[in-house]
Amino acid sequence: MIVLKNTDQLAYMREAGKITGEALSLAGEAVRPGISTYELDTMIRKCIEKHGAKPSFLGYGGFPGSACISINDQVIHGIPSKKAILKDGDIVKIDVGAFYRGYHGDSARTFPVGEVSPEAMRLIEVTKESFYRGIAQIGEGARIGDIGNAIDSYVRENGYNVVRKYIGHGVGRELHEDPEVPNFGTAGRGPRLAAGMVIAIEPMVNVGTHEVKELSDGWTVVTADGKLSAHYEHTVAVTSNGAVLLTEV
Ligand code: MG
Ligand code: MG
Repeated sequence: MIVLKNTDQLAYMREAGKITGEALSLAGEAVRPGISTYELDTMIRKCIEKHGAKPSFLGYGGFPGSACISINDQVIHGIPSKKAILKDGDIVKIDVGAFYRGYHGDSARTFPVGEVSPEAMRLIEVTKESFYRGIAQIGEGARIGDIGNAIDSYVRENGYNVVRKYIGHGVGRELHEDPEVPNFGTAGRGPRLAAGMVIAIEPMVNVGTHEVKELSDGWTVVTADGKLSAHYEHTVAVTSNGAVLLTEV
């Protein structure tokens, strides 16, 4: 069931979103060779808690970190660790959720570590742009399939592949709500967008195959071929004036 949010609820979600975005930006600014993903995770937790909010992911299904931090071929759900030290040329995906006054925010970005290859930089940029192609579809009469179709088409044009096993989702009182928001699909199909819907749109883009596998830690998802993957996500409100990014700082 898709839960629509009224104006007051959207204002609360904007607060949760701002905290999410601030924690993510703070961690992004700290990305550098030599820092561990544990240190980034600690910064994120402290920033969220400073605002009186809670990290949405901490304890979610037993997840041990406050953020998911995934390096290079790790797609999503990387577990922060003192042993995971960023090095020059890596790309790192940081995915943050904050729960505040009953609502969640959910946002992710991919950051270059030091000097990265032109291919890695291009992947990061194509992934980000694919998100904007997706939200450009949001408007009167649009459907969920329009978003995924726009994302997937743009990614394919650039020679990459969207992950199909993991997708976007509704956000609200629950971190994951209806509807499902795939990063692929058929234009004109799927649930119709309506003002008050809040969805996390989150393309995960692989240089190689779309196929992924889960590591034996029970969390970390990696590309099946070991090639790079990037991720970009905002929590987006559908309004009568189009898309509003709730997790933008
Ligand atoms: Mg996320
Ligand atoms: Mg999400």
